[in-house]
Amino acid sequence: MTDDDEFFPVSCLRNFYFCEQIPYINLVLHVFEPETESMVYGREKHLRFNAQYLPRGIRVEKVVTDVRLASRRLGIAGVLDALVYGVHGELIPCELKHSSSSSARPLLKDVVQLTAYGMLVEDVFGCVVKRGVLFYGEDRSKHVVVFSDGLRRLVVRGVKALRKMVEEERRPANRSLDRCGGCWYSRVCWGHPPPRTKV
Ligand code: SF4
Repeated sequence: MTDDDEFFPVSCLRNFYFCEQIPYINLVLHVFEPETESMVYGREKHLRFNAQYLPRGIRVEKVVTDVRLASRRLGIAGVLDALVYGVHGELIPCELKHSSSSSARPLLKDVVQLTAYGMLVEDVFGCVVKRGVLFYGEDRSKHVVVFSDGLRRLVVRGVKALRKMVEEERRPANRSLDRCGGCWYSRVCWGHPPPRTKV
């Protein structure tokens, strides 16, 4: 086991709160969605942090982008889009999404991901992180997420479930059936044929 194997990627935790089957397929079956042209485009056009992505009331002193974070205590690692240094020494993690939030509230998977980054910043920088910001590029919506005890528990519970899933190699019982339409992993879950590959 390498050092990297000790940490679950924060993206796995995010996927766990989208559909529990996806981290099982990734971590146990070792099947990953191949990168599509639109994914490559999204990666290359990766949103760069802009102070306008922050809600009013957050005053910026400094911003560091693409912050690599890992915590042995939490068992997770990932790269945070932007870490804002606010006034009075406050650290505010920010995640930038190309998509829209599709409702007035940010998506749970994104909220848990941001909370995980908040907890990682606390561990790495040895400070208290009380809130973070999610920005959705498509609808330009900005959301302040307060890292409540409940959200922190979702992070811990998710990591614990991932660890158990890998140790026992057992497929989770839960399937997010309302999300199967358009999910690439349906061919693994339901046996649909894989798409034709270009030659
Ligand atoms: S096809 Fe449905 S059950 Fe399978 S991973 Fe996708 S959303 Fe989950």
